[in-house]
Amino acid sequence: MKFIFFRMKQRHSLYIMLVSLLSFSLLGVIIYKSVGEMFISQSRTNAMGLAVIAANEIDGDKFETIRSKDNDEFYEVYELLDKYKDFNMLQYIYTMRMEDDVLTFVVDADPDDPAGCGEEYNLLEDMIPAFHGQVCCDKKLTKDKWGKFFSAYAPIFNSDHEVVGIVGCDITTADITRRLAILRNVIVCLISVFAALCLLMLILISRDMVNTDSLTEIANDNKIKNVAARLKRKNKLKDYTGMLVNIKDFKYINQKIGFNGGDELLREYAGQLKKMTRKGEFVARTGNDNFLMLIKKGREDEVLKKLSPMDINMSAYAGLEDFKIYSRCGMYSVGEDDVLSSVMNYCTLAVNSTRKAENDDYVWYEDFMIKQLLEDKNIVAKYKEALKNGEFQVYYQPKVNIDTRTLCGAEALVRWVKEGTIISPARFIPVLEREGKIIDLDFFVFEQVCKDIRRWMDEGIKPVRISSNFSKLHLKNEYLSEDVLAIVRRYDIDTAYIEIELTESSGYSDFDALQKFVRDMNEAGIYTSIDDFGTGYSSLSMLKDIDVNVVKIDKSFFDNMEDEKQHGANLVGNVIRMIKDLDRIVICEGVETEKQVMFLKGTECNIVQGYLFDKPLPCYNFEERLKTPVY
Ligand code: C2E
Ligand code: MG
Ligand code: MG
Repeated sequence: MKFIFFRMKQRHSLYIMLVSLLSFSLLGVIIYKSVGEMFISQSRTNAMGLAVIAANEIDGDKFETIRSKDNDEFYEVYELLDKYKDFNMLQYIYTMRMEDDVLTFVVDADPDDPAGCGEEYNLLEDMIPAFHGQVCCDKKLTKDKWGKFFSAYAPIFNSDHEVVGIVGCDITTADITRRLAILRNVIVCLISVFAALCLLMLILISRDMVNTDSLTEIANDNKIKNVAARLKRKNKLKDYTGMLVNIKDFKYINQKIGFNGGDELLREYAGQLKKMTRKGEFVARTGNDNFLMLIKKGREDEVLKKLSPMDINMSAYAGLEDFKIYSRCGMYSVGEDDVLSSVMNYCTLAVNSTRKAENDDYVWYEDFMIKQLLEDKNIVAKYKEALKNGEFQVYYQPKVNIDTRTLCGAEALVRWVKEGTIISPARFIPVLEREGKIIDLDFFVFEQVCKDIRRWMDEGIKPVRISSNFSKLHLKNEYLSEDVLAIVRRYDIDTAYIEIELTESSGYSDFDALQKFVRDMNEAGIYTSIDDFGTGYSSLSMLKDIDVNVVKIDKSFFDNMEDEKQHGANLVGNVIRMIKDLDRIVICEGVETEKQVMFLKGTECNIVQGYLFDKPLPCYNFEERLKTPVY
């Protein structure tokens, strides 16, 4: 039964249980009522039948003459009544003689005290039908001075068909009430047992609810905490590896297939993770698209092999067959002293490090990660003060036209100069971005760029177009365009010297804001570019809808350009051609060799940025470049 309930949605089983409890109780009441009715009507029929039989047996003419116990007829009637006295539930059977409207008790079947023409009764309302030739039964359960009875009466006729008396039957209701009480108790007992069962189920279900993730119906973090605590008590937790699994690009997938599709995907995904576990292994959803698995040591590779890619059939939801899901996984081999929270922390550090470009999707926890975490915290803590203290400097990396080998632009790249050492932006930008602290820094760099352009113009140095990097977090600011234009106006510089680089939009939520910003910049004559094209979610079709001027192809595109079959080179060439077809300027980043330049000359890309020509230069070095812009 538990199994059936658990297979159903818990909420549904709860409703079903409540409805069945109510129906069961209602059924009990109906059974009680109808069985009660049945008992009563059976007793009533018996009483009436008996009265009729006795009345028929009595000779009405003789009965008419009974005046006292001395009459022979008196004993005749007594013996007749005595025959029936053992009848089921019968309390009394008696006769009354009729004289006008008065009934006189004549004889009853009580051998100790047969009534003898003694008491007189006025004709009772209840008995009247008996005198019209009918058998009558009085109220169902009477509570009168004689106790609880059914009384049935039948008329005694003389040979002239006149009513000369009646036979009365009093049947005790005590037995009926006793039997009904037994029935009631049985029903109440059954309902109580059923209610107790329901309560038990309720407890089980609510316990299960506390331990089950409502979306995926696998264990939740509460359950895995309990499991881990139990394993810890038995000193068995150390036999496991914690694997924190996370769906790659889930945010993007969710936006693409809709939230309902995303939910379905999570359910399917959780189901497949569960199938990967063996007896004594566990998986729980710990939130969003994060799942923690406790896998027996030595089984990790087996699980990882099944993890990516995972085929999920979503045809019913997104019209996509064979949805391939890739996962990230942070792993930690549980030690003697670990508890679940430490396992979670180590796994989280490991899974977070999979997000770094240079790392795999599956990463084991290593001690340096803790150190890095502390350093990250240090960066965040020191950043505000550093910005105030002028520790951030702007470097410029030239962009070169490879046809003319002349300087044709530059990218502003920030450096943190701390106690004489330069910290690379690759170290602190992602941290600040993750913590939402990048905005001020980007504006600082942008303002510094405008300031420098102003100064170069004032000093008679002809500037080139300088691009500044803007984090995608800026797109949350609905006044971004106004803020940018206010700075440009403050330094009164020609917008033709300004370009804003945005990394690819991470999804559709930013897409509208990105489109608006690009439109505003176009109207103001400021160039915009998509940075690192080919590393994220941007696609050529997206470019059709966003009117950026420049597309910067990421360095990683060149990394496998020199494979034997020239696949990489063909890819770069085709991508450049397609972007050009969309009428955008293409800049290739990370150009390090003349061979790459030679290759690019054969394509439609004639602007590059890379160490071959210049590394990012401090401002004063870059000024020299501006003065002699030929390579
Ligand atoms: P990015 O915008 O793609 O900048 C290009 C990066 O590639 C720069 O790294 C540059 O030094 C490097 N690079 C250029 N040519 C070559 C080459 O030939 N070989 C190699 N290996 N690398 C080359 P950098 O300066 O370390 O900046 C890293 C990233 O940090 C930038 O990538 C950008 O995304 C971010 N960043 C830098 N400054 C800022 C800023 O002011 N704001 C924001 N939001 N991000 C910034
Ligand atoms: Mg850039
Ligand atoms: Mg780039």
